Amino acid sequence: MIKENLTKVRSTLADGVRLIAVSKTKPVADLQEAYDAGQRLFGENKALEMRDKHAVLPNDIEWHFIGHLQTNKVKYIAEYVSLIHSIDSLHLLEAVDKEAAKHDRVIDCLLQFHIATEETKFGLDMTEAQALLESPEYAQMKHVRIVGVMGMATNTPNRDLVRQEFRTLHSYRDQLAEKYFVGHPEFKEISMGMSHDYDIAMEEGSTLIRVGTSIFGARDYGVSIND
Ligand SMILES: *Cc1c(COP(=O)(O)O)cnc(C)c1O
Repeated sequence: MIKENLTKVRSTLADGVRLIAVSKTKPVADLQEAYDAGQRLFGENKALEMRDKHAVLPNDIEWHFIGHLQTNKVKYIAEYVSLIHSIDSLHLLEAVDKEAAKHDRVIDCLLQFHIATEETKFGLDMTEAQALLESPEYAQMKHVRIVGVMGMATNTPNRDLVRQEFRTLHSYRDQLAEKYFVGHPEFKEISMGMSHDYDIAMEEGSTLIRVGTSIFGARDYGVSIND
């Protein structure tokens, strides 16, 4: 079914939107099936799980880290990760910069914003993001490149609320671009939209959608590895 699901999701993609197949908790065989159907962007939310999958799957895969990242786990992904979606503190960005330096890399990152009404979702607010971007520590970093923003909408059937939250994230991207990234056209990404809301996200200007369930089916957290 994975191939059919991928075809279905791809047929709905708006122009300029890239699809990240969120494969967390899924076995390598499922990722290989998606790979064989042409998928090259995969999203994981645990550093050790990503490391183990990266080790055995083809090396032209772009690995996107989409979960809460602890500073002491950055070392497991720094050598190969394509984009870290979940920068939610200066402290974490410093850790990424340091690990990237060890591999002589520049790692692309997104600032994760808290846009949902739920308390539990991680992320910065605008004041915190500005403080990060204006900090002397950030000014010194040579091994990270911030290329946009990421957010998760409230998990609710209220599609108007979800749309509003996506709009807010889009406006954060625009405000930051204007204030901090003039002359840096690479700062353009808006990572928003999951299985149940990516249609709204695309209407609101998403450039990266993160889709798991609609491709791989429901997740069974009982068999999650390396959690
Ligand atoms: C799991 C996850 C997704 C994918 O969720 P689905 O509902 O399965 O599409 C997207 N983004 C993040 C940050 C996730 O943790």
